[in-house]
Amino acid sequence: MKADEVLKLAYERKLHPVLIVEGGNSEKRFLLAVEIAKLLLCGCNSCSVCNRASKIKYGEDSLLPDLRLLYKEGVRDTTVDSVREFLSTVELAPYEARSKVYIFVDGDTLNYSSQNSMLKVLEENFESPRYFIILASNKRFLLPTVLSRSLKVSLGEKERDENFITILEEKIYSLFREFYKKGDLYYLLAMGETISSALEEKERIDDVLIILNSLVSKSDIKGVECEFISDFAFLLLEFWGLRKMGIRPKKIVNYSLLRAYKRYLLLK
Ligand SMILES: [Zn+2]
Repeated sequence: MKADEVLKLAYERKLHPVLIVEGGNSEKRFLLAVEIAKLLLCGCNSCSVCNRASKIKYGEDSLLPDLRLLYKEGVRDTTVDSVREFLSTVELAPYEARSKVYIFVDGDTLNYSSQNSMLKVLEENFESPRYFIILASNKRFLLPTVLSRSLKVSLGEKERDENFITILEEKIYSLFREFYKKGDLYYLLAMGETISSALEEKERIDDVLIILNSLVSKSDIKGVECEFISDFAFLLLEFWGLRKMGIRPKKIVNYSLLRAYKRYLLLK
């Protein structure tokens, strides 16, 4: 969907409660989100709500109690705790506007658990509307479970790391599909190798978890193989904590893969 179509829906009060704005750059995404929020909160363009909404700048706090902004903490993380705190006011009725809007400014940095923790709220029904706008350079950084609940707007040109994620996802997917079809352990080991080297290069465990999670929702992979992938993702997340003790990503990946494979053999 394009930006002007979304603005029209917001103006007509027909917008889906969960929206993802991807592409462009941080500032463009932010400007569009605030513009949408303004229409959702009021949109008359002459009252104090609209006035304050127009003055909100990227990187600064919101000037409205009914419009909340969540920025990342540190370099690349928006933790579960900050997401919980951010959404803690969701049950409260709007203070002065006709709805409440929550903007996740750095959606790219919402990690695996943060995204999982917001699912319930995204599905809730409220008396007056609540809107959740997630901004991300690329929607691939978001879990399939979040994506499936959202309307997507693209601002076109994408940025950084697009290739890294795409290539990694395609590699993992094709190797696992071969394993699924042929049952040959070789493909599984190759998949482990691919993941290890990606993690050795960039320690982006969340990207790997999101890719693994998305495999489960591919229609051509079913049954115990899905459980295997979920198990592997779960173990990887659990054992990733060992990084703090200096254990190398390769070791962690292999250990998680082996554990998941053992269980898979029992289930099979
Ligand atoms: Zn107004």
